[in-house]
Amino acid sequence: MRASSSGALSGDDYSRYLLDRIKQLEEANYGLRGRLERIEREGRYYEETRIRYEREIKRLRSEIEKLRTPPLIIGTVVEIIDDKRMVVRSTTGPRFVVNYAQFIDQKEAVPGAQVGMNQQSLAVVDVLPSAKDPSVYGMEVIESPDVNYEMIGGLDEQIEEIREVVELPLSAPERFERIGVEPPKGILLIGLPGTGKTMLAKAVASRTSATFIRVVGSELVQKYIGEGARMVRELFELAKEKAPSILFIDEMDAIAARRVEDGTSGEREVQRTMMQLLAEIDGFNPRGDVRIIGATNRPDILDPALLRPGRFDRIIEIPIPDGDARREIFKIHTSKMKLRKDVDLDNLAALTENTTGADIKAISVEAGMLAVKRNKKTIGMEEFEHAIKKIMGNMQRSYISAKEMGVMFA
Ligand code: ATP
Repeated sequence: MRASSSGALSGDDYSRYLLDRIKQLEEANYGLRGRLERIEREGRYYEETRIRYEREIKRLRSEIEKLRTPPLIIGTVVEIIDDKRMVVRSTTGPRFVVNYAQFIDQKEAVPGAQVGMNQQSLAVVDVLPSAKDPSVYGMEVIESPDVNYEMIGGLDEQIEEIREVVELPLSAPERFERIGVEPPKGILLIGLPGTGKTMLAKAVASRTSATFIRVVGSELVQKYIGEGARMVRELFELAKEKAPSILFIDEMDAIAARRVEDGTSGEREVQRTMMQLLAEIDGFNPRGDVRIIGATNRPDILDPALLRPGRFDRIIEIPIPDGDARREIFKIHTSKMKLRKDVDLDNLAALTENTTGADIKAISVEAGMLAVKRNKKTIGMEEFEHAIKKIMGNMQRSYISAKEMGVMFA
């Protein structure tokens, strides 16, 4: 088609024009679509950023909330009443009946457990983790003590008895099963301080490759109510965890003194600790691989409940060493020392009446130190005599001051 007059487009030009226009529009459309995509992408990015910031705001708000929350009061569970209330004792003393949060696990909130309580309502909102760190309680845990029976002098009969009632159930439990008897659950060593009770317990542990756990009774009696019972429970848990183990409770009389109703809260606390100890012993498998050895030098004040069958039902008396025993203990403690020929162990034993194994050890060490001080090559009788005078003199003084104290308190 040709243009019929000037200004008008011919048919070819017009179709070219239209094609160009279409192309232009397509390009513009393409450009717009790209922009739209970019804008949509940016929109998504801003949306994500907004969500991120909102989350951050929420986190910071809850952090502020946490910082604003008042501290919790620590208390000890005394008793669970029902699924809503329990009796707790605050560390300051008084007992309260309080509600507890639904999310508190009843298995964890057992009597003796430590809990966190709201300041105003005293509602229990948290159960605190139990600290089973032995050092906290002044416990001594030795995987395998380096003491053996040969290092103990003058206690052959007692060693024999301990081997029978503590070592054998650990090393050959099948013998007891075969015969159908139960070994004693616990044994009680009675003797003055320094007569070798701890050594004996350590030697059995070492012999049976058992962990030796020592705890002192007075450490178990705590200032805070309910703490002692909790510690006893955790102590037995520890012994089971470390099994085979020997649990040695020194100064038993501090927790197991005969019950006297003096009505003080301290006295009741001691009783609670003792009740927990009895409960632990009663719920304990006598053929299991945990053995309990108690030690005391005051058997006269022990609660008879403790000595009932099935508890500490074997008592082994650790005597103060006689002449022969003292000679043997001197031999053990001087075995690595260079002695002069004039040192006569029989003579030393005769000079040290009424001393304990610990005193004899102290005398031997003192004599050795004196020889070092005097720059001698060997330890002679005069060093021993000097050491005996010094150590036995100290003993005399502590005996006198104990007597004076007795007069003071009489
Ligand atoms: P405590 O009641 O004060 O705990 P204990 O009766 O447990 O005293 P041990 O700790 O066993 O006494 O003894 C203290 C130290 O005395 C031991 O490390 C050991 O060196 C020495 N000793 C005591 N008795 C004997 C003994 N029979 N033979 C050899 N050494 C002994």
